[in-house]
Amino acid sequence: MNPAIDLDRLRADMLELARIGMAAGRPGINRPSFSDADMAGRRFFMERCRHAGLDTTMDCVGNVLARWPVGSGPVVMAGSHLDTVPDGGVFDGTLGTCAALEAVRAMRAAGVTPKHPIEVVATADEEGRFGGMLGSQGLAGMVDPGWLEAATDSDGIRLVHVMRAQGLEPDRYAEAARDPATLHAFLELHIEQGPVLESAGLAIGIATGVSGVFNWTVTLTGVANHSGTTPMDLRRDAFAGLAAFAGRIPAIIAELTSDQARLTIGKVELAPNFPHTIPGSATFSIIGRDIDDGIMHRMAKLCRRELEAAARDHGLALEIREESRLAPVDLAPDVATLLAEQSRHLGYATTTLPSGAGHDAQTMQHVTRAGLIFVPSKGGISHAPEEDTDWRDVERGANVLLHGLIALAA
Ligand SMILES: [Zn+2]
Repeated sequence: MNPAIDLDRLRADMLELARIGMAAGRPGINRPSFSDADMAGRRFFMERCRHAGLDTTMDCVGNVLARWPVGSGPVVMAGSHLDTVPDGGVFDGTLGTCAALEAVRAMRAAGVTPKHPIEVVATADEEGRFGGMLGSQGLAGMVDPGWLEAATDSDGIRLVHVMRAQGLEPDRYAEAARDPATLHAFLELHIEQGPVLESAGLAIGIATGVSGVFNWTVTLTGVANHSGTTPMDLRRDAFAGLAAFAGRIPAIIAELTSDQARLTIGKVELAPNFPHTIPGSATFSIIGRDIDDGIMHRMAKLCRRELEAAARDHGLALEIREESRLAPVDLAPDVATLLAEQSRHLGYATTTLPSGAGHDAQTMQHVTRAGLIFVPSKGGISHAPEEDTDWRDVERGANVLLHGLIALAA
């Protein structure tokens, strides 16, 4: 019997998880990391894994690990995350987690016995509620204890407090780390969260790497003053400086000559923020991304240059604070090639592409060979209740994961 995903079984698990994240009066799925709903989703998933005959545990940072104890040697891991953004969709994370379990069930149903053990993983805290990816960073031994201790969400709630309230043990984070010698590979299936596959009419994308990202908070400080009495040429208008910089973004991108370069000002605060007053200060975010570390460094340099010019031209003081920086990650080329071959062999229209969004696979790449499979997102939409993927694409993606697992574990 040719191993194949049972879409009805996979869909049933995903829709059951979606139900766990739904609340009255909210449009989307809400399982923010370490919330009651998140933990209920994890317990449901553990139950499904046990039902499939897997040895299932939750580690000290909340990762669900479900092992199929066959074969010997290092394990092939597959999975994704179960937490969601506020009012997220049905597919983000949940797809890759449930598909990994379904792949194991499909292998067993088809009588496939892998040479390597297989471990299904539902990682914790991937969506950045506390600014990191605690679950996969825990597995990869990449938790910064200072960050763990200090991390808070946007409401100021401490990570270690919510973890302890859920019976988890943040102080023992080091025990979650996996010895790289025990890992053979890691595979993740995820929705693309962008428009590339859909607009090209492709079913499957294999990620070659994940963009790096820097996160800056910039403050331009001038002088708040009366909007009527202050002549235009005597102003030190913080918003004018911000606008001048924003107007230079296309030129910065053009100078970088990278089609993966992204610069975004997503958050702006003016003070006093009153219609009749010239803004005395502008505090704003700059998020820079690219797939190449050298280009990211050049991008940062160009941003500094343009910010300094804007500050000078408008008589403003400039302060730049780097909140965080993640370098780009190249995913394992041999795994990407293997996945693309499996996908084409299954008859799916397939391409390779970089990932502009962060994923657990980029963390796992630090300790093993990681592969990342994308399926199309309708309209490129994600992190929203409208997030949608055709169930036929879900089935295709899960079959690529299944056959990738068989090829790697055989
Ligand atoms: Zn995700």
